[in-house]
Parts: sequence; C-alpha cells; structure tokens
Amino acid sequence: MEQTYRILLYYLYRPIDDPDDFACRQRQLCEDLGLLGRIIVAEEGINGTVSGERAATDRYIEVMREDAGNEKLVFKGDDANGHAFKKLSVKVRSEIVTLNLGEEKDIDPGNLTGRRLDPANFYEAMNQEGALILDGRNKYESDLGHFEGAICPDVENFRDFPEWIRNNLADAKDRPVLTYCTGGIRCEKLSGFLMKEGFKNVHQLDGGIVTYGKDPDVKGRDFKGQCYVFDSRIGVSVNSTNPSVVATCRNCGVASERYVNCAWKPCNFRIFLCSSCEERDGRFCSEDCSKLSGSKSKEDAGF
Ligand SMILES: [Zn+2]
Ligand SMILES: [Zn+2]
Repeated sequence: MEQTYRILLYYLYRPIDDPDDFACRQRQLCEDLGLLGRIIVAEEGINGTVSGERAATDRYIEVMREDAGNEKLVFKGDDANGHAFKKLSVKVRSEIVTLNLGEEKDIDPGNLTGRRLDPANFYEAMNQEGALILDGRNKYESDLGHFEGAICPDVENFRDFPEWIRNNLADAKDRPVLTYCTGGIRCEKLSGFLMKEGFKNVHQLDGGIVTYGKDPDVKGRDFKGQCYVFDSRIGVSVNSTNPSVVATCRNCGVASERYVNCAWKPCNFRIFLCSSCEERDGRFCSEDCSKLSGSKSKEDAGF
C-alpha cells in the first residue's frame, strides 16, 4: 500500500510569551490541515507529534518555520498508511517536559545543557572506556528497547529522574555521561540537570534514538529492540545494522515485542504478551486480574 501519510515529531525550546494564544492558533492550524496528534505548549517552548496527509504535513512544516524564530525547527518524519492518532490534543502546560524541580530553579537548556553529539560521534563515545550511557526515558519505554550497555532507570515518569540520579549516580560524577531519549527533548533538560548536579563531562544524543536510527552511517548500530513511541505504532525499528529483540513474553518468556495493556481495565498495566499466550489465557498481567475480570474473551481486551 502506498504510504501517503506522514507522522512528524518535533520540539523547540524557545520562549513563548502567550502560550494560550499560541495553542489556540496551533489548534486552528492543525484543524485546517486535517492533522491529528498531541501538542504541548509552554512558556519555554513547544513539543509536538502529529500525523496527516503528506501535503498537509509539508504545509505544517512550512508554516511552523515561517513563524518568527522557528527557522531552525527540526522535524523528524516517518511515512505511514494513515493517521497515527485518534484525535487532536493541544495543551498548555507549565513545562514542555516536566522535570518538576519545584523550589529549585528549573533547567533552561538555552543556558545549560550537555554537549550535543551526532549519531556517529555518539556511537564512538559509547565505545569509550568508562562511558556511562544513561537512558533518559521511563522504564516501560526502555523495556522495549535501549542501547547496549545502557543504564535504564526504573522510573515511571520523567520528573522522577532528579531523585533517581541523586540516589544512584552520586559516585559517578567524574565519569563521562552520555544521555539519550526518543527525539532529544528530554535530554536537553536531563543533561543540564546532570551538569548542575556536578557531573563534569555530559553529552547528549542530538535528535535522539529516532535520528540515530535514520543516520545513513550508524543505521541504529547497537540499539537493541525497538524505540517506544507515543502513537498507535507503539514501537518503531531503529537498528538495521545488528538488530535484536530484548522484550520477552511475560507468560512464556519467548522473544516478543507485542506490547499490550492488561484487559482488566482498572489495572491497564503494560505487558509484553505473545499472541499464543493471549489466545490461551487472555490478555492479563496476572492471575488476579484474570479472575477479577471474570472473562478470558479477547473482545473485552480493548485499550
Ligand atoms: Zn507467551
Ligand atoms: Zn493487570
């Protein structure tokens, strides 16, 4: 099937004086172009992922870049067969990614952020003696895929990182740190936070895993599994050099990247479950959920 749609991912740290007004115009623009997706606007910038017909996404990129000060806006695009979202959501928040430093001063990546490495240099740096590779995403994301040798923090939310770092990496401040995330936005702040905490040698993967996977030279080398994405695809391939699968079925242990939600709605926990296990036992994370739900039928297993 011809892929006439495209999914865009982008962010920009740039002061926005009136986020409400900006969000309003974003909503209008997306509606006019028939785009669906999620956009977050804050005083510190904008973060978005949208899907739409190719011509509409082209126009969106054009309009966004014409907007004063946006000419350096980088869009990452994937071809698709249709929309990757069910609706359009444009929200105004206090931060485009929430580190939630509260009383402490927030990180402004415009002033403090780790040195940006392109994919080739990041690959080289990962192979340096003593390098500490830090996955800047949540556990449910790194469970689907991560860089070989990376530390994948057991966190549910990005705002849990400051505490996790203080508890787990306090002795590593002299080691070179390499951070990475999906598209680069979280590392802008995460690497700045590490520097503020006294880490001396902090680098970040510019453009994130998505860019690393598209780079014609590294082609995703040493990334294991898939990259978790926040749209209907859930996972996308990254590595065409030495690919592997890291996720395993929760029930039987076979390699499986089939990421589903527990069918007991109040639980809704994300699990890897192969299709034969689901057919036999239903889509549940545990015996308890299976009993509570009182049904093994697949029809009840929607998101
Ligand atoms: Zn299984
Ligand atoms: Zn469950």
